[in-house]
Amino acid sequence: AVRVRFAPSPTGFLHLGGLRTALYNYFFAKSCNGAFILRIEDTDQSRLVEGAIEQLQHDLNWAGIQIDEGPSSGGSHGPYIQSQRLHIYREHVTTLLNNGSAYHCFCTEKRLELLRREAIRIREIPKYDNRCRSLKPEEVEEKLAQGIQSCVRFKLAPGVQNYADLIYGSLNYDVAANEGDPVIVKSDGFPTYHFANVVDDHLMKVSHVLRGVEWQISTPKHIMMYRAFGWEPPLFGHLPLLMNPDGSKLSKRQGDIRIGHYRDLGIFPLALINFITNSGGGFEKDSEQNVKPKCYTMDELARQFGVSRINSHSGKLMPERLYEFNRLELKRKLEDPNEEKKLVEEVGQMVRKSFAGNDLLQLDPQHVRYILHWSVNRITKLQDLLSDDLKFIWVSPKSYQISENDLVPLGIFIEQLERNQTLDREHLNAFFKSFCKEHQLKFGNFMKTLRSILSGLKEGPSVAEMVEILGKDNTIRRLQHCIK
Ligand code: GLU
Repeated sequence: AVRVRFAPSPTGFLHLGGLRTALYNYFFAKSCNGAFILRIEDTDQSRLVEGAIEQLQHDLNWAGIQIDEGPSSGGSHGPYIQSQRLHIYREHVTTLLNNGSAYHCFCTEKRLELLRREAIRIREIPKYDNRCRSLKPEEVEEKLAQGIQSCVRFKLAPGVQNYADLIYGSLNYDVAANEGDPVIVKSDGFPTYHFANVVDDHLMKVSHVLRGVEWQISTPKHIMMYRAFGWEPPLFGHLPLLMNPDGSKLSKRQGDIRIGHYRDLGIFPLALINFITNSGGGFEKDSEQNVKPKCYTMDELARQFGVSRINSHSGKLMPERLYEFNRLELKRKLEDPNEEKKLVEEVGQMVRKSFAGNDLLQLDPQHVRYILHWSVNRITKLQDLLSDDLKFIWVSPKSYQISENDLVPLGIFIEQLERNQTLDREHLNAFFKSFCKEHQLKFGNFMKTLRSILSGLKEGPSVAEMVEILGKDNTIRRLQHCIK
């Protein structure tokens, strides 16, 4: 059975790259009826960030990723937080110490530092010289008995290691030529990433490891550890980097790439997901996508997903696409009565929150719904509805400019407007014209006055359109307020 995991370290907020790794694993699980596991890798206690685990789960949840096994979902291979699995690592390191694949190292920080400096001086790759490998068992016993600080290191196998990357194909790497024996348990008793990661992937029966390409260099080492335990390693695939359009690394220059940042901007989850999965391959999009972009649902994306479709070259994000997807998603939501209802509520809340204390439009759902449909080709995100030029929709203007001249017939205007049955633009325009003629008003000036009363704006949608957007009751309320 396919079992995949997303294994973040709770060292900060989930960002675009992390979400992409989570998504590819998730779609992979979905596309073959497998399980998606969330595992928290918090063994580097010095880098922990308060609240990060909750935030992570919240962000994944927001993105619509369902976690089959994890800290909050449970599962039969838990606990799913590494700091709660220390007894498991202790037990497993003993196995490696006993079968000669690992050893205690007593080298001091000072000695390691000298080694590093010497290597740099003679222009070699700094690496541990594996000195403690050759300690005799009695020496080790003695040092341990004396309570000398030690860590445990894994014995790297010499020579070139080969493995088949699901995305990059056959890869060769000589680990031992480039690194000293890696620490697997630190002197504080905590395992390092490499060790805990391997033990957990095995015990959690992970079948495929899909992770960022920055981990590719560690994979041969991980495979050696599986072998040392006598375990069959999972299959590994590494995801290429996501880049800015100019080819720079995403984490730099991009500014804020936290998921929460996009949520605050008013980006819909599916828009963000389509944005991320739109570059770098992995999905078999229908041919229509090339002509007219489409914002796919999670199910559609899962159906289109295939590991073999992932590119091995880095993918560039197209920032302008994000808003395009968001608008498409807004349209899609408005076509679905349930989603539409939720949006109407959300907008109502947003408006109340942003403009508390103002004279607000009557926010009855029918009307908000109307405004949403009106706005769909004018905005890219819900927050745009609160912008200065659309604020008039929700909030009565505080001040307006009107000439005395226009004020006189306003009472009659209101009466006649009230009697109007149809409020469509054409009909209103005809009504405005005949009203001006009848009362000898200059059409342009009268429109300016009306626009100012209704919106406080000098420019904007036509007055007829404003009346249409505001609805009859709201329009009349604003006009009446002005002559009182
Ligand atoms: N804890 C690692 C990270 O933060 C996980 C890498 C892996 O998936 O093996 O990215």
